[in-house]
Amino acid sequence: MLSEYLDGDLDDFDCRHIEEHIADCPPCIDFIKSLRKCVQASHDFKGREECPSIPPELEGRLKAAWQAALARKK
Ligand SMILES: [Zn+2]
Repeated sequence: MLSEYLDGDLDDFDCRHIEEHIADCPPCIDFIKSLRKCVQASHDFKGREECPSIPPELEGRLKAAWQAALARKK
């Protein structure tokens, strides 16, 4: 469901479920890592459109989920 999650198509329950899953799923963590790399790359190379654009609100939500996942790994 990650693509729906990234598209913001899931309701709050599913989002929460996925955020909990991500905390314990290395492939998902890698996926989000590469996504963040993607976002960073698009910042570093303005004008290139290799990555799908992410709405700022969703990007913030992903970062929050990522931080929560990191916090739970400690
Ligand atoms: Zn997963």
